[in-house]
Amino acid sequence: MRSHYCGQLNETLVDQTVTLCGWVHRRRDHGGVIFLDLRDRDGIAQVVVDPDTAEAFANADRARSEFVLRISGRVRLRPEGTQNPKMPTGMIEVLAKDVEVLNTAVTPPFQLDEHGKVGEEVRLKHRYIDLRRPEMIEKLRLRSRISHHVRAFLEGQGFLDIETPVLTRATPEGARDYLVPSRTHPGSFFALPQSPQLFKQLLMVAGFDRYYQIAKCFRDEDLRADRQPEFTQIDIEASFVEEEDIMGVTETMIRELFQDVLDVELAPFPRMTWAEAMDRYGSDKPDLRIPLMLVDVDDLMKQVDFQVFSGPANAADGRVAALKVPGGASMSRKVIDDYTKFVGIYGAKGLAWIKVNERAKGLEGLQSPIVKFMENVIEELLDRIGAEDGDIVFFGADKARIVNEALGALRVKLGEDLNLYTRDWAPLWVVDFPMFEADDSGRLSPLHHPFTSPSCSPEALKANPAEALSRAYDMVLNGTELGGGSIRIHDPQMQSTVFDILGIGEEEAREKFGFLLDALQFGAPPHGGLAFGLDRLVMLMADARTIREVIAFPKTQSAACLMTDAPGEVGAEQLKDLHIRLRQKPKPESGE
Ligand code: ASP
Repeated sequence: MRSHYCGQLNETLVDQTVTLCGWVHRRRDHGGVIFLDLRDRDGIAQVVVDPDTAEAFANADRARSEFVLRISGRVRLRPEGTQNPKMPTGMIEVLAKDVEVLNTAVTPPFQLDEHGKVGEEVRLKHRYIDLRRPEMIEKLRLRSRISHHVRAFLEGQGFLDIETPVLTRATPEGARDYLVPSRTHPGSFFALPQSPQLFKQLLMVAGFDRYYQIAKCFRDEDLRADRQPEFTQIDIEASFVEEEDIMGVTETMIRELFQDVLDVELAPFPRMTWAEAMDRYGSDKPDLRIPLMLVDVDDLMKQVDFQVFSGPANAADGRVAALKVPGGASMSRKVIDDYTKFVGIYGAKGLAWIKVNERAKGLEGLQSPIVKFMENVIEELLDRIGAEDGDIVFFGADKARIVNEALGALRVKLGEDLNLYTRDWAPLWVVDFPMFEADDSGRLSPLHHPFTSPSCSPEALKANPAEALSRAYDMVLNGTELGGGSIRIHDPQMQSTVFDILGIGEEEAREKFGFLLDALQFGAPPHGGLAFGLDRLVMLMADARTIREVIAFPKTQSAACLMTDAPGEVGAEQLKDLHIRLRQKPKPESGE
């Protein structure tokens, strides 16, 4: 139907006849001549319709925003003074000969260039219109390029693209399962995969050696910022490998991707142990663009007569840490109060601070509600933190988990608020994760998933599970976990030991993972892998604010699709087929 995309037109086509198809972006009537901006996925072209071409003119005259038109005409240079160098097609226009209305459109719920005036809900409800916006097209185009690049790279490295089932058994990755009732097996349910983890391991047992898949994963998680109940992973697994092999190939993949797609050269990724990341950044995904660091001051605070600090400093699970903000002494009381509220979100009971106005003046030169309690250690404290005139130092004192979360988040917020970024891209590997994390009652759960290999023997693991490290690695970029993986357990005895430590008894292990335990007995090779979150990768590369911006049809934070109104109720007949009786008719949801 068309000869060119609108956005492809340029001066080289002058005097040629072209046929364009697209949507009316804007229509202007200029004293008898009609100007149409015709838009398709490649851009916008200006079309001029003259009353001389009567039929074309009549059609252009009735065209409105978002009508679908087919236009033929001659490309010509725009008259001097009317060129628009900001537009790729700004030097030319098309003088229409034929204008055909392929379809009409009712008034759209928002003008594309006025999308900012409506809430995200309106945009999500009419996503097909929102997706007409050039920025959205750009992001999805970038996404397509990224997936294409990843596929080409992995194929080139001998990885095979193999699909794994969506209707399956639970794969634990730390979230709730989405369940699908079985009609043919009354009372039984499939689980949608939280990841292809077990299948990719079984493919290694089968001998495929190198697997990848761009796979949908499903996790029913509580409302948390910027998560989607279904999301996409670049899932990778290989046999006869060690950490270096997987980290090597995936780092090369990401570096080549950045080079080819963004023309950005990333230096080899530094590595940091999990312990160091928590210690210095309060996070296992540190944003290394921000030059602020937590400093441990436990030993000093043990010596002060101030229970708020000495308590956590002396407690086995406590921590007192300082965070210096250079030049921060000018912060107002109101700003400090806001940061105090902010750390409250992470459970911190307060935010102590010292403003260093003039160090040479000793205590006199400091401004702080707490400094009077720490006279005996103040000089050593300020030396250790490297505090200079004009700085502010914040403190966290609580359980280590709370201090890390609160100061870790404050560090990122300060980086944002004060625009402290030292560079655009800061990738790194985080390694030497603990195998397990304990909740407040001491119950252990896997830090990654229960198929991750520890870096010790089953005996050592059993003897001291809380101290054991795993063979896991995460790739972090700008404070976001881009991907995570590990060398897996390939020995059935080790797998049983891990289940045992997690409180998964033999019977339950057989019931849930019998197929895996069986497979491990039939000659499982040493293997490992990694999965990237494709949505997050695209979000970072597109410089988008949320992953919703890089997903064509995302769900809201309460896991609903505003456009299709999913999830929806189903009829009694269908429920009967599925052997399901509802306990109560659900109350209508009260929106977002
Ligand atoms: N299956 C893991 C996840 O989804 C990734 C991996 O270990 O390969 O987080």
